[in-house]
Amino acid sequence: MLKKFPPRITTPYGLPAHQLAGLQWTVRHAFDNSSFYRDRLTSAGIRPEDIISLDDLCRLPLLTADDLAAGYPFALRAAEFKDLVRIHASSGTTGKRKVLCYTRKDIDDWQDMFARCYELAGMTCEDRVQIAVGYGLWTAGIGFQQACEHFGALAVPVGPGNLDIQTTFLIDMQSTVFCCTASMGLLLAEEVQRRGLRDKLSLKKIILGAERSSSAMRDTMRDCLGIEEIYDITGLTEVYGPGTGLSCREDNGIHYWADYYILEVLDPVTLEPVAPGEIGEMVYTTLCKEGAPLIRYRSRDLTRLVEGPCPCGCTMPRHGRILGRSDDVVIFRGVNIYPGQIDEVLHRVPGIGSEYQLLLDHTPDGRDGMLVRVERLRNAEAQPDDQLVKQIVAGVKHTMLVSCSVELLEPGTLPRSEKKTKRIFDKRKFE
Ligand code: ZN
Repeated sequence: MLKKFPPRITTPYGLPAHQLAGLQWTVRHAFDNSSFYRDRLTSAGIRPEDIISLDDLCRLPLLTADDLAAGYPFALRAAEFKDLVRIHASSGTTGKRKVLCYTRKDIDDWQDMFARCYELAGMTCEDRVQIAVGYGLWTAGIGFQQACEHFGALAVPVGPGNLDIQTTFLIDMQSTVFCCTASMGLLLAEEVQRRGLRDKLSLKKIILGAERSSSAMRDTMRDCLGIEEIYDITGLTEVYGPGTGLSCREDNGIHYWADYYILEVLDPVTLEPVAPGEIGEMVYTTLCKEGAPLIRYRSRDLTRLVEGPCPCGCTMPRHGRILGRSDDVVIFRGVNIYPGQIDEVLHRVPGIGSEYQLLLDHTPDGRDGMLVRVERLRNAEAQPDDQLVKQIVAGVKHTMLVSCSVELLEPGTLPRSEKKTKRIFDKRKFE
């Protein structure tokens, strides 16, 4: 298990000791080399030598995207410019982009982490990896590509979009791995089915990044593309980029590289750790990042930790699928609704497709109303509409404890996009 890119534990005392050493190094490094962190830590009354156990982590102040915006463009910089070799940027919440800077060692560490993902996905040097994600300021394209070359597989860097070139290269290059967003994977699956190309492909695996995928979407990709394995890769620009964790063949959670960062899952309101298995916000602390270290960075992504060892044999810990962002949580009749919950409900209903919309609005009597718009599955065994509707209503009631109405649509009615598809529309906000 993980022979080429094994966990890098730098002490003989295991992961916790390694994490403590990394935390101590990071706090010291940030304090000594970043005026932002020095001010922040000093205000909180913390000196680097105060960090003597992992329990001291919770004493450190939290970091948010607003801090990155306020210090734009080099908010967290903790290395001299002569030691920086690259920047990446992603869209920011307040209009300003989030800019992160990397040293040579940061890039090397990122490549090692990402190559570990390819290894966990069971890839070999024989694989041909078609990369259908964005290049440029984004971490995605170059992240997938440099790790592919570092790992030793063949990169086919097509870039995002353009289904015509994607299908042509899948056939001509006989690509075995396809890397894309979930929406793009779905579009490709439907295109391959429409044009009857499935038998011409050698595709074995899909690696999905950047966007939450529902089980129904994954089923559609498996069926239409004739593949067995679909992996979710995680990562955000602030924490290097994609490649900081991967779902494994057991498909029960995402292994994350705890030798490179500590993951806390906190209640987004109280900012206290949630109980094991509860949903909370992912908060990151890097252990060896030089250019822009993170100390307790609030990502806004929601997930839960998965306890216990994984049957796949990988010893790195796991978190669950990303269930959306804490900004996207909608409060409906006093209940928190997480975007990922509707995916889970719809997946359990046979005969419906993977695209849906959730509309929240005021009903004529002034109450909150929820409408689920969902497509019938193409070629599915005919099930009476009232049966389908009944199952969806019951599923929503059971999982989210609220009532909804349902509109069934013909396959292909709802809009698709190559990027992130908007699925929740909260019209109550605009009144
Ligand atoms: Zn596993």
